[in-house]
Amino acid sequence: MKKIAIIGAGVSGLAAATVVERANRAGGDVQFTLFERSDRLGGVMVTERIDDCLVEAGPDSFLSEKTYGADFCKTFGLGDQIIGSNDDERKTYIVVNNRMIPIPDGLMFMVPTKILPTITTRLFTWGTKIKMGLEIFSRPPGDNGDETVGDLVRRHYGQEVVERLADPLLSGVYGGDADNLSVRAVLPRFAEMERNYGSLSRGMLVARRKMAQMTKKMGPNYKPRPLFSSLKDGMQQVVDAVAELLPPDRLRLNAEVKSVGRDAGGWTLTVDGQSQRFDGIVVATPAHAAARLLGSMNATLSEDLGGVPYSSSVTVALIYDRASLAHMPPGFGFLVPKTENRRIRALTFVHNKFPHRAPADKGIIRVFLGGTADEGVLQLDDAEILRTVYRELRELLKLEAKPRVERVYRWNKSMAQYSPGHIERVARIKRCVAEMPGLSLAGNAYQGIGVPDCIASGLAAANSLLEAFGIHPPNGTASTGKS
Ligand SMILES: Cc1cc2nc3c(=O)[nH]c(=O)nc-3n(C[C@H](O)[C@H](O)[C@H](O)COP(=O)(O)OP(=O)(O)OC[C@H]3O[C@@H](n4cnc5c(N)ncnc54)[C@H](O)[C@@H]3O)c2cc1C
Repeated sequence: MKKIAIIGAGVSGLAAATVVERANRAGGDVQFTLFERSDRLGGVMVTERIDDCLVEAGPDSFLSEKTYGADFCKTFGLGDQIIGSNDDERKTYIVVNNRMIPIPDGLMFMVPTKILPTITTRLFTWGTKIKMGLEIFSRPPGDNGDETVGDLVRRHYGQEVVERLADPLLSGVYGGDADNLSVRAVLPRFAEMERNYGSLSRGMLVARRKMAQMTKKMGPNYKPRPLFSSLKDGMQQVVDAVAELLPPDRLRLNAEVKSVGRDAGGWTLTVDGQSQRFDGIVVATPAHAAARLLGSMNATLSEDLGGVPYSSSVTVALIYDRASLAHMPPGFGFLVPKTENRRIRALTFVHNKFPHRAPADKGIIRVFLGGTADEGVLQLDDAEILRTVYRELRELLKLEAKPRVERVYRWNKSMAQYSPGHIERVARIKRCVAEMPGLSLAGNAYQGIGVPDCIASGLAAANSLLEAFGIHPPNGTASTGKS
């Protein structure tokens, strides 16, 4: 019997465990033990039911276009539980000088594809609008190396688009900073469009045209996917579904792996002061934790893992009587550029994005703070965080009412930042791992930080171990749809 240890029970480690468990049930001579430091499964995926509302403390949805996220849920019979964001209400604002300005129609991420909304928006000054219009004449540049998103956007559209769009959007996704994230790692499509067309706007228009042709081919009844997908009972539903599949005696909660050792016979883990032997391990912790665990075995690997920067954030969930939110602007919420000098980085009107998450008489506001620009917010106590949030909500939304419920969630060093050099770093990590048979890594530090990417990384990590042991992966777990 091959024994596999999985370290970390976030969605990456859980996905890995499902592969080994299914292989075992299919007759494979293999078994897993999952070690998790905390007292629960799911890592940053935490859903709470409070005051008849569904509150997501961590991720609240995933990008629908990453279909392997939904595919994974479907393998647990959750197909009919997948819901889409209420895109009819999709309107997002950027705060500029304390005012909510809608992101203009036709803006694909930060690339304008419609003339009129770009001309009429109050989001940009005339100098920027002219630069945006002229961008269509850009020619493919020489090699700009592994530049940052900030540099790329600045070259094409100017500093204002970095400040008012690129930075807030990336802060919303990565808790990061446009001037610190690698284009090739986080927006590879942009790098490709620039190579092929010179102009990002031209590249995006071509992509739009192709998309329109495809949509036409699908016939009149075709309905495009919603931008975001989630689960009716929250993201934790997938964690609970996985937990039902996994034998409880293979799950070790409150079990921090303190060290990992390796010899010719396999791997030794120290947990609760005791050594345990395994044939293979999947390290599905954040990279900084993986660096500590693997440090004694391979200094280069440990240095590269430890070198992946992580950001920390705080989410605040507030439940209100819906009547006190009557004067809120319509839409999903807003993003706050750093130049506004506020602590709130982003806000979601959850009851608009996913209406059934709150009953008709209640509304949920979710606020994000922190990220690389404001790690200090984690040093504040809850009362101080709430005071700051209430003050800023008063100033930005004239929201005076007190919520029925307030919750503060802290996410210390949880979001990997793909800085310039990330792709080479991951290639070096993969080379080191290949030299250490029986080791696999999974998590958000490598090839995508979104929930679907983490699922894909967990599936791939476990599959590669099974393959090395000559055990065929069971159907439905080998293909993640992600190359
Ligand atoms: C606030 C927030 C909002 C987000 N929103 C979205 C979103 O809307 N959509 C989206 O797609 N993505 C979102 N993400 C990103 C996504 O949720 C994460 O990248 C993903 O869930 C990470 O999963 P993971 O399993 O790799 O890591 P984690 O969830 O961090 O799990 C790692 C686990 O390893 C355990 N561990 C660490 N060290 C040890 C050890 N030595 N021994 C045993 N256990 C250990 C930890 O306790 C933890 O449970 C968000 C992330 C955060 C923090």
